[in-house]
Amino acid sequence: MDSEENEKIRRDYKSGIRFTSDCWDCGMHISVDTYNMCSFGCLYCFSNYLSRAVERKRMGGFKPVLRAISTKQISDILDRRRVAGENLTNTLIDEVSKHGIVQWGALGEGFDRFEERYGVSLELMDIFNRNDIKVRISTKSTLLAQDRYLEKLKRGKYTVSFSIITSDDEMAKKMELGVPTSSERFSAMRKLAEEGIRVHLRYRPIFMPLMERRVGSGGEEDWKVMIDKAVDAGAKAISYEMVFLTKGPTYQQRRRDAMMDKVMGVPFTSWWRSESIPAQECQRANRLLKYDGMMKIRDYAHERGLIVGISDPHFKEYSDSSSCCGFLNDDPVWGNFWKKSLLNAVVEGRKAFERGEPYYVSYDDTVEEWTKKVEVGYMFSIPRRHKYYEGWTLYEHLRNKWNTPKYARSPYNYFEGILFPDYLDDEKNIVYRYRHWTPEGFKEARG
Ligand code: SF4
Repeated sequence: MDSEENEKIRRDYKSGIRFTSDCWDCGMHISVDTYNMCSFGCLYCFSNYLSRAVERKRMGGFKPVLRAISTKQISDILDRRRVAGENLTNTLIDEVSKHGIVQWGALGEGFDRFEERYGVSLELMDIFNRNDIKVRISTKSTLLAQDRYLEKLKRGKYTVSFSIITSDDEMAKKMELGVPTSSERFSAMRKLAEEGIRVHLRYRPIFMPLMERRVGSGGEEDWKVMIDKAVDAGAKAISYEMVFLTKGPTYQQRRRDAMMDKVMGVPFTSWWRSESIPAQECQRANRLLKYDGMMKIRDYAHERGLIVGISDPHFKEYSDSSSCCGFLNDDPVWGNFWKKSLLNAVVEGRKAFERGEPYYVSYDDTVEEWTKKVEVGYMFSIPRRHKYYEGWTLYEHLRNKWNTPKYARSPYNYFEGILFPDYLDDEKNIVYRYRHWTPEGFKEARG
C-alpha cells in the first residue's frame, strides 16, 4: 500500500483513539478504531445505534463520509507528546504510559474491505510496534493471516480475538453479510496461533436459537462445536455474551430484525425484547432465561482449558478475572490492564460468596483516578462536546449512576440485583452488597 493511495481517505476520525465509554465495566480503558464506518453488514451490528452510525447520520440529513484515524494524532499520543491545554489527550498519554495496552476494534472492524483498499491499520501496526504497545485486536476478518499483516503481528505484542457467532458457515453468511465464513475465521485463528500469536475466541453475540442447533457430526450443539473448534485452532481464552437488542430500533434496524428472525426461523427479536427489562436501552432478556446456556459454555470452556471472560452483565461475575476479554490479572504480559471496575466488583463478590464471606463495595473501589480528570461531554464525542454533560467529569457522572439505583444503568439494575444498595458511607455514597444470584432464589423471590 503506498502513501498516495492512503491520501484518498480523509484522516480526521478524531474519536479513533479514546477512553471507552464502557470503561466502568471493562478492564481495557483505551479503544482504537481505524475507520468511522465498517464495510461488513452484520444484521445485529450495534454500531448502527450509535452516533457514529451511518444510518443515524442519514436520518439526520447528513451524508456519511468515510474517515480514518490520523496517524499524527495516534503517534502524538503513543509517542507521549503532551499538548498544553489538551486535557483529554494528556490524560490518554498518562494512561497509555502507565498501562501500555489498548483494545483495537471496539466499535468497528479495522480489517475489512476499507482496510484492503486503504491500509491504514497496517500503518497503525508500525506505530504500536515502535511504542511497544500491547494490543488486543477484535476482528471478523481474515486479513491478519496475510503475510504483510502477519509479519507486523510477529514484530509486536498482539492478542487477536476472532469474533464468530456460529460454526455453521451457511447460517453465518446470512447473519453477517460480506464477512469471511466462520471456517475461514477458524483457519485464520489457527494460522496465527501456529505463528506464535496469542488468539482468543470472541463468541458474541450469541443467539439462543443458533447456539442450540445441532450442527456437529455427532449431533453436538453449536456452542460446543464452537469451543472445540477454537481449542483445536489454538485459542487460549473465550470471551462471550448473549445478544442485546436496542429498545427503540430504527426503521432499518426493524428490517434487519425481521431478516434475522427469518434466518433463525423463529420470531426471536420480539421474544427477546418481551423477556427483557422494559426500562433498559439494551434489551438483554433476563438471567433466568440465559442461565443454563451461560453456565454450560463456562463449564465446558473450563473443561477444555480455556480462560473464561464474560462480557454479558448477566453472569459477568463468573469471569475468571477482572478482564472480560480473557486475560488473567497476574498475566505477566497482558495483566497490566485497569483493575478498578464494576466487573472486578462482581467477580470479587462471587469469589467471596464461594468462600462463604460477605462482600461490600464502595464507589471508589470501582473507578480509576483518571476519571476525575476527564470531562464526560468530551468523552462521548471527542470532536463535539456534549452539552448535556457540561462541566461534569466522568467520575461525577458515574457517581450519579452509582447513587441512583433506580436508573437503568445503575449497578443494581445493570447486574439485575446482584449488587444491592446496602448503606451510605461517610461521603454519602452508597455501599453495595453482593447478593449471589441463583435460579432457585430468583423463582422464590418472584413467588
Ligand atoms: S464487523 Fe462489527 S462493526 Fe462491522 S458490521 Fe459487523 S458488527 Fe458492525
